[in-house]
Amino acid sequence: MIRFHEVDKHYGHFHVLKNIELSVGEGEVVVVVGPSGSGKSTMLRCINRLETITSGELTVNGVRVNDRKVDINKVRRDIGMVFQHFNLYPHMKVIDNITLAPIKVLGTPKQEAAETAMYYLEKVGIADKAQSYPAQLSGGQQQRVAIARGLAMKPKIMLFDEPTSALDPEMVGEVLDVMKTLAREGMTMVVVTHEMGFAREVADRVVFMDQGQILEESEPEQFFSNPREERLKTFLSRLL
Ligand code: ADP
Ligand code: MG
Repeated sequence: MIRFHEVDKHYGHFHVLKNIELSVGEGEVVVVVGPSGSGKSTMLRCINRLETITSGELTVNGVRVNDRKVDINKVRRDIGMVFQHFNLYPHMKVIDNITLAPIKVLGTPKQEAAETAMYYLEKVGIADKAQSYPAQLSGGQQQRVAIARGLAMKPKIMLFDEPTSALDPEMVGEVLDVMKTLAREGMTMVVVTHEMGFAREVADRVVFMDQGQILEESEPEQFFSNPREERLKTFLSRLL
């Protein structure tokens, strides 16, 4: 579903991604960890071309996302993204936040979009908040709305960039639970997170990034119990 091959990216003179090799298969959950500033968000944002790569090849579903001839909006329709700061529209009710893109982008009839929205709100456990405004919800509830909004586009891939980092600790679990359910149902996911419990439990593979490079990539058991790279050992030891 996603393949980075020899991908490099520069911000001006700054070399932010260095020779990235990464493949994510259908239904796989890949968790990306690493210190702040290591390039995790940049790598994620390249997948839906919120950032462009400098060289190498990046394909989503076999489509080269940086090819000039590619209709990027078509690629993006298959990719849902959830950010640290939920990015909901504050002036719109929860239900309207969710139906907006299906109506505008997919041309879904209003009634059908509303039904789909309710289905996903049910799924993330907050159907009763459909008529509320974002500011009336807790952080955890807002993030679940953001996930429902992503799912309502029926994407093939979901990208999560530190979805629980802005939440009070007591709300982290409810968001991770929704993500675990999605993973179990076979969604293809790339998740940047500091939640090592989630990585251990849900990831098919865990990737360690440092200074723009992928230094280690392995199954969770190996990753946490038997890390090879010195910098990963140091990173893990600081979390304890
Ligand atoms: P992470 O998500 O791992 O914290 P980022 O991908 O956000 O890392 O950033 C990696 C590096 O790239 C950081 O040093 C950051 O300052 C730099 N960076 C991020 N975005 C830009 C940008 N738009 N222009 C220049 N430098 C950037
Ligand atoms: Mg980041």
